[in-house]
Amino acid sequence: MTGSPPIAETELRAHAAEAGAHPRCADCTALQKPGWESISGAMQTSHLQRVGALGTEADWERLDEYHPQGTNLWSPEAPIALGWHPYNRCTLWRCPRCTGAFLRYTEYGGYYEEERIRPLQAALICAPPFGGG
Ligand SMILES: [Zn+2]
Repeated sequence: MTGSPPIAETELRAHAAEAGAHPRCADCTALQKPGWESISGAMQTSHLQRVGALGTEADWERLDEYHPQGTNLWSPEAPIALGWHPYNRCTLWRCPRCTGAFLRYTEYGGYYEEERIRPLQAALICAPPFGGG
């Protein structure tokens, strides 16, 4: 079930802009943390609808992260760097009530799986080219 093409940057930015133009509903407000959060059983995510994936399965191999400003994966101000880990394996989710837009991916550790969620923020979206390494 990976046949559909990934979401283009322009489409992603359109979702971010739409989300930014509306206040969050009550359920989304609880999810509106700037950085990645682990999805716990107490978090309400069932109101979100899946829009599509940001990358294809082939992109999942890339584990390089993009942090030119010294951020890390969990930083609230970490760039949403398209094509880079973990955004290459993210799916975009949208709230039909308030147009809230969220990114989600599953971290597969050695002995655990962890679902994570982060709001899609227009100001953080970038698509930096990959360096020589
Ligand atoms: Zn909402």
